[in-house]
Amino acid sequence: MEKEVSISVKCPLCSRSLMVDDFLIRNKPAIKLNVETEQERGVLWLSSVYGDNTKEMDINIADGEIVDMYCPHCNKELTISESCSECGAPLVSFVIKAGGVVRICSRKGCHNHHIVFKDIGSELSKFYFEYGF
Ligand SMILES: [Zn+2]
Ligand SMILES: [Zn+2]
Repeated sequence: MEKEVSISVKCPLCSRSLMVDDFLIRNKPAIKLNVETEQERGVLWLSSVYGDNTKEMDINIADGEIVDMYCPHCNKELTISESCSECGAPLVSFVIKAGGVVRICSRKGCHNHHIVFKDIGSELSKFYFEYGF
């Protein structure tokens, strides 16, 4: 069986956890965000399992649409000034509690996401240690 690594993330602006225990994806706490399109507001849950693209939403968003994502605690927009190398949409960033950041694309249907470690040596070994990867 392949070992699944679950990543705990927090808001880069208010440092509060974005993890929720009452919504599980692949048996792990999901990452919860408020989302907004031109038409609607809703809630998005992302899988916290590394490499897993599972998402759940309570509104319908068309593939290819760009979604604004907000922290559910401080309501600040989590979009950063960098754009996706695949499709050019703005990237959204979270801080990994164990160190480093995750960046995901804000366009629905684009699966570009990656993890950036500030210091590959120590952060990565800490990550391996904490998650038993
Ligand atoms: Zn926040
Ligand atoms: Zn993209």
